Amino acid sequence: MPLNAVRPKILGFISEQASAWLVALVVLLAGFALTAIVAWAASDLYQQQVRQRFQLLVNERYTRLQERFEDQEQRLSSLRRFFVNSDEVSREEFDGFAQPLLLRAQAYSWAPRVFREQRSQFEQEVTRQRGAPFFIRELNASGELAPAPERDEYAPVLYSQTQSLLGAPLGFDLLAQPPRRSALERAHKSGKLAVSQPIQLVGVEPAYATGVLLVAPVSRAPTSELSQNEPYGYVMAVISMRQLVADGLPKAERDNLVMQIVDTSDLQPQVLFESSNAVASSDLVGARRLSLGDHVYALTLRPSQVFEQANHSSLAVILVMGGLLSVLLSALLYVLVSQRQRALKLVEQRTVQLRLRELELRGAHGQLRSVLNAATQVAIIATDLRGVINTFNAGAEQMLGFKAEQVVGKLTLESLHLALELEACSAGLSVTLGKRIPASQAMLVESPDNLHEAREWTLVRQDGTQLIVNMLATVLLDDHGLWIGHLAIYLDVTEQKRAYEALAARDRLLKKLSAHVPGGIFQFTLEPQDKWRFIYASDGMRDIYEIEVSALQQNATKVFERIHPLDVERVRASIRLSALQLSHWREEYRVLLPQRGLRWIRGEATPEELPGGGTLWHGYVSDISDLKRVEEELRALSITDSLTGIHNRRYFQDRLRAEMLRLNRTSGALSVIMLDIDHFKRINDQHGHAVGDGVLQELCKRIGQRLRRTDVFCRLGGEEFMVLCPNTDGERAYSLALELWQSLRSVPMELVGIVTASFGVASWRADEGIDGLLLRADSAVYLAKQAGRDRVEAERVRA
Ligand code: GH3
Ligand code: MG
Ligand code: MG
Repeated sequence: MPLNAVRPKILGFISEQASAWLVALVVLLAGFALTAIVAWAASDLYQQQVRQRFQLLVNERYTRLQERFEDQEQRLSSLRRFFVNSDEVSREEFDGFAQPLLLRAQAYSWAPRVFREQRSQFEQEVTRQRGAPFFIRELNASGELAPAPERDEYAPVLYSQTQSLLGAPLGFDLLAQPPRRSALERAHKSGKLAVSQPIQLVGVEPAYATGVLLVAPVSRAPTSELSQNEPYGYVMAVISMRQLVADGLPKAERDNLVMQIVDTSDLQPQVLFESSNAVASSDLVGARRLSLGDHVYALTLRPSQVFEQANHSSLAVILVMGGLLSVLLSALLYVLVSQRQRALKLVEQRTVQLRLRELELRGAHGQLRSVLNAATQVAIIATDLRGVINTFNAGAEQMLGFKAEQVVGKLTLESLHLALELEACSAGLSVTLGKRIPASQAMLVESPDNLHEAREWTLVRQDGTQLIVNMLATVLLDDHGLWIGHLAIYLDVTEQKRAYEALAARDRLLKKLSAHVPGGIFQFTLEPQDKWRFIYASDGMRDIYEIEVSALQQNATKVFERIHPLDVERVRASIRLSALQLSHWREEYRVLLPQRGLRWIRGEATPEELPGGGTLWHGYVSDISDLKRVEEELRALSITDSLTGIHNRRYFQDRLRAEMLRLNRTSGALSVIMLDIDHFKRINDQHGHAVGDGVLQELCKRIGQRLRRTDVFCRLGGEEFMVLCPNTDGERAYSLALELWQSLRSVPMELVGIVTASFGVASWRADEGIDGLLLRADSAVYLAKQAGRDRVEAERVRA
């Protein structure tokens, strides 16, 4: 579960005013108290468990020890029965029987009763049987075995089967020492097993030396001379307490229990066995009674430190964990509570802000209502989802003649519209959108053709008259984005529509006019930022420049791309000049068109200054290519001699004048060669005028072939010709004249034979006019005539 969901539940029962510190402290204390209770309960349970475990261990240990004690008794009893049931027991038989019995006993021994008078004979007999000296002995003051002094009775150890490496203390008189003697006497008296007080065993390793003697009297079978109760010896088990009690049990350092066995049969209790391990600090103790022979031992068992360690209490862990958990929980609560307090504070702040916002909204709402009513030129109508009107502003009242109270909650938007129009629209929309659109929705559905655009509708006023409006409809949504109605804004466009129609009629007229006028009509502006623009361009403009009118209106400079490179700068400059001087613009220029190639255009326009500082031209452009061609042809004709096809006198004079102007500006040379056919009149007379014309043509052909490209050949009139040689001095002109002269006279002409001419050469001199030069050429020809014709004469300075 996310924390957010849990938080309110945790905090639901904590007062909002509670201090976070206080809550944390209370939780911490409660946590500690709970921890203490849990620890107490756990401790109690732990004590019980430990006690049970200890009791189990005690019972198990007690049972084991008691079994071992009983086992010792049974083993000795079986040895006793062996003696009772045998007439004579040899050493070998004893060894054979006693050896398997040796378990947890140091030794099994046989000690016959020997009386004072039998001693020496007994010692000799045994010495003989063993092949080694045998004496009845006892421990002397220094703790060593020594021959026993004279006594009435002895019970010396005769056979002994022992585990000890020290061997058996053969001959050792058991009656020599009080504890042993007491045990023998009790056995003798009771005829049952008797146990000595704890003694230091003889012939046993020191570690195992503390122990007891378990003695059983052995009597003859009833057939013997002695009474049944009178024993003739004793069998005994030498029991080391350590071996009996501790062997086969866990070692002291690993034992759960600390054992103590105390002999309680005497007035003075004696410790028979005591574990070497340390007692735990516990009040647990187990006490049992163990019996061996005629003795009863008190067995005391206490838990050892090993037990304590193995069963240590989890109290500390519980306390630490509980304490830690309490601290963590209180920290968590502190954080949560302080967070909640912060959140509450934030909520408070937000509430204040919201209240302020609400006030602002109320103000805005009031303002909005005022605006709605102030908008008297616009009808603003809102409807609910069913189309029923719920807002009807002052503008709507004015436009439609209804009062708001007549409409609000009573009429639908549909009822204000012209029904026929709505039906037509709904039918159209149903087809376009592929689903049925009811007439009541037709004005609200956006047609895919004109999204978000105002549409024109016809409304019906209260008095039944109609008015044309532009309508914008939008969907009304509430704060959650849910659709709650529609808002329609109407603008009366009746007047606007009338004006628009008048304009459209004018436009149509203009279009018709411009279509029938050759050339193109335009309105063109040049704005201060050097922006060229066509305000209007008739369709004729497209034919003139081969550019679409729309493209021209977008970018007027496309026109300049069409104008011939040699003319374009002139045209630009003239437009600028016209703008500057507000002078009539008139220009003729060439255009290079993609389809019709090179054409001549004439443009004319009248400028007008614009209020913003730019210039507006109203103008007209037309194609004058045909006019230009005729003009060109006329011009060519006017400078050409019709008979010979070479230039005429007028052209010669124009060129000569131009050349003279050039020479006056720069320095250089210029020469002329003049020629006159000799006796031409005669040719005419002899061969007729037509042949004379042919001679003129042939002469022009021959001269023309010889001339350079730069030379200009003209017929001055009749049979007189002139060659204009630019950049040519007198000498070079003279030699050219000689060449021409030769070319004429060297070959006879058809029908007329050799034709000759007289040549005169003159060169330009500075500070001389046209007339001077021509006069000198003329006089050179005259000289040639005078000199007999058919020659070349250079100029002469007239005296
Ligand atoms: P001269 O050697 O002294 O120049 O003798 P000329 O006969 O050539 O001189 P003149 O000036 O007396 O004669 C010129 C003649 O050229 C007169 C005219 O009939 C003739 N003439 C002028 N124009 C034409 C023309 O276009 N065609 C023909 N066939 N003859 C022309
Ligand atoms: Mg002449
Ligand atoms: Mg002549």
